[in-house]
Amino acid sequence: MRVKILGSAAGGGFPQWNCGCANCVRVRGLRGSSDARTQAQAALTADEKSWYLLGASPDLRQQILATPELAPAAGERGSPIVGVFLTSADIDAVFGLLHLREFHPLHIYSTSGVRRILFESNSVFRALDRSKPPAQWREIRPGEETALGDSGMSCTPVALESAYPDYVGELLRRSLAPNQATIGLAIEHGGKKLFFAPGLPGASSAWKAEAAASDLALLDSTFWSDDELVAIRGGGKTAREMGHPPLSGTGGLIEQMRREARPRKVAIHINNTNPILNDESPECREMRDAGWEIATDGMEFVL
Ligand SMILES: [Zn+2]
Repeated sequence: MRVKILGSAAGGGFPQWNCGCANCVRVRGLRGSSDARTQAQAALTADEKSWYLLGASPDLRQQILATPELAPAAGERGSPIVGVFLTSADIDAVFGLLHLREFHPLHIYSTSGVRRILFESNSVFRALDRSKPPAQWREIRPGEETALGDSGMSCTPVALESAYPDYVGELLRRSLAPNQATIGLAIEHGGKKLFFAPGLPGASSAWKAEAAASDLALLDSTFWSDDELVAIRGGGKTAREMGHPPLSGTGGLIEQMRREARPRKVAIHINNTNPILNDESPECREMRDAGWEIATDGMEFVL
C-alpha cells in the first residue's frame, strides 16, 4: 500500500490568509518554500491504479493537480480516484467534495451521521448526484471492517469522542449518533496497517491501541500547547476545547505515544501557529528527539 500526503496543515493552511503570527510571517517571506503547506489530505493505493482519498480538503483541486498519479489517462475523461473517506463533517474535511463534482462517479464512505448532515441540511452537496452513476454513499460504522472494492484493502473506523460541527442545526444534531461525529481510520493491506486520525478529540484513549498496532500513524498535531491560540488571539478556546490534544505537556500526544515503538509516528494537520513548523525551533527538535516525523506536502510512505 502506498500512502501519499497531499496536504499536511490544519484548517486555514500555512500560511493562513488572515494570520500574521511569527510562523506565517516567516513563511510568507520564503516564497515557494516547501515549508508552506496545504490543508490536511492523504491518498492511498494498493495497485497504483485505483486511489482512495482520506478526507476531502478545501485545497483538493490544487492537491490533485500537484499529484501526477491522480491525473486522468491521456485522451480520456476519468480519474484514478475511485473513493473518498470522510472522517467528520468539519468543513476542512468535506469541502473538497465540491471539487469532485465534475460528473465523476465516486464512492463516498462516511458514517450515517456525517452523510445526513451533508445531504439533509446542505443541499449543495447534491451536486455530486449529477454523475452517471451518481455518487454512491457507503455507510461505515465504528468497529466494523469494510472492504475497499477489490483493492485488497480494508478499513475499520475508530470512534473518537467528539461533537458535530457548530454549523449543524440543533434539531438535526439531536437525532445523530454521538459516536459517529469524528472517526479515525485503521486501514489494512497485506498485513500492514495505517492509522489515520487528523483529529483526535475527546478524553478517550480508545484510538491508542489502533495507533500502537499500526505500522504508520498519521496523527493530529494541530497545536503544540493547550493555550496556543488563546495566546495569539487574546481569548477563545483552548486546544483541548477545540477537540485537539496538544503535543506537549502532561497528557499531550508526545507523552501518550512515547512508549509506542512499532508505528512510524508522523505529525499531520499542523496549525500555522505550531512552532514545530519551524525546523530550527526547540519544539521541532523535541518532536524529532521523541521519534516523530513532521509531515510535509508530497511526503509518501510504502507499507
Ligand atoms: Zn499564522
